[in-house]
Amino acid sequence: MAKVLVFIDNPGQALKKASLELLTMARSLGEPAVAFNGDLHNDVAETLAAYGAQAVYRPSVADLDDYLVGPKASYLAAAVQTAGATVVLTENSAEAKEVAARLGIKLGAGVITDVVAVDPDGTAHKSVLAGSYLTAAKATTPVAVLTVKANSLTPEPAVTGTAPASVTVDVPAGATTAAARITARSEKAASGRPDLAEARIVVAGGRGVDGNFGPVEELADALGAAIGASRAATDAGWIGHDAQIGQTGKTVSPQLYISAGISGAIQQKAGMQTAKVIVAVNKDAESPIFEIADFGIVGDLFQVLPQATAEIKKRRG
Ligand SMILES: Cc1cc2nc3c(=O)[nH]c(=O)nc-3n(C[C@H](O)[C@H](O)[C@H](O)COP(=O)(O)OP(=O)(O)OC[C@H]3O[C@@H](n4cnc5c(N)ncnc54)[C@H](O)[C@@H]3O)c2cc1C
Repeated sequence: MAKVLVFIDNPGQALKKASLELLTMARSLGEPAVAFNGDLHNDVAETLAAYGAQAVYRPSVADLDDYLVGPKASYLAAAVQTAGATVVLTENSAEAKEVAARLGIKLGAGVITDVVAVDPDGTAHKSVLAGSYLTAAKATTPVAVLTVKANSLTPEPAVTGTAPASVTVDVPAGATTAAARITARSEKAASGRPDLAEARIVVAGGRGVDGNFGPVEELADALGAAIGASRAATDAGWIGHDAQIGQTGKTVSPQLYISAGISGAIQQKAGMQTAKVIVAVNKDAESPIFEIADFGIVGDLFQVLPQATAEIKKRRG
């Protein structure tokens, strides 16, 4: 049976839903194990067991987070070799993709990014060229590295879970010698909203909000959603660049994506069109966003969004 190594990097106090999705996917491909970087306290260890991890590989050094991605890739390469893994699954964040790329170089492994599904034989599915085509791809190398978009599947615990074996992996001496060291960090102000990349619901605003994200925020908060934006909105400085969705922003794949005042340029679609349900609010009935919307509302977002927010609050009342 193929050994599948899931890289879980800094999960914090509880495992992220995206990590549980990766473990669920790993079980469909073979025998799952985890390369873990972070604080493995009891709750996390129990969840790993419940999701079928057979082994947990931990780095021999505690300071991987003091460096940019290079030493993490060195650790992961050592973990792959120790585990005898033939498939590696990671998140699809910018950092995880960079670790994956470096891991691919170290192991001579094929790397497939932006994956939304994997067949039991390792064939990965993804959309390419700004979402114009759906492709199936399979690495022909002994090890395949796949970065998987959040919300691509529903996480499910294993039928039986036994405590995984804990194995320490020697991070190669010199892994940090030439690596860039992080000298300072500043905490980002917490928004209280879910992480955009893994949110189940995203409400996104574009140039149509005309500098006022208030109605977008109120609808997002009524739904427990994350807030996204088009590049026009982030370039205008109405919201931070970390909210940008699209070809040069984040890729999201939520259950529900509400697009408000966004025209639906191909570069925007590239980051959101794998959302399960797309609702578009735009005052121009000819706007291209309606071509991919499951539900379209032709109207002024400043009238439509507050009505939706009020109705949702009333029903949740
Ligand atoms: C290399 C490259 C990379 C790019 N990467 C990205 C990217 O990652 N993400 C991204 O988003 N863009 C990206 N872009 C830019 C992209 O081409 C578009 O310019 C951008 O997405 C447009 O943003 P928008 O839809 O908010 O603005 P617009 O295209 O100006 O559309 C605004 C829409 O709001 C509607 N509207 C106006 N007022 C209201 C109202 N009151 N109520 C309802 N609707 C209203 C209008 O009818 C219009 O459809 C990229 C471009 C290039 C060249």
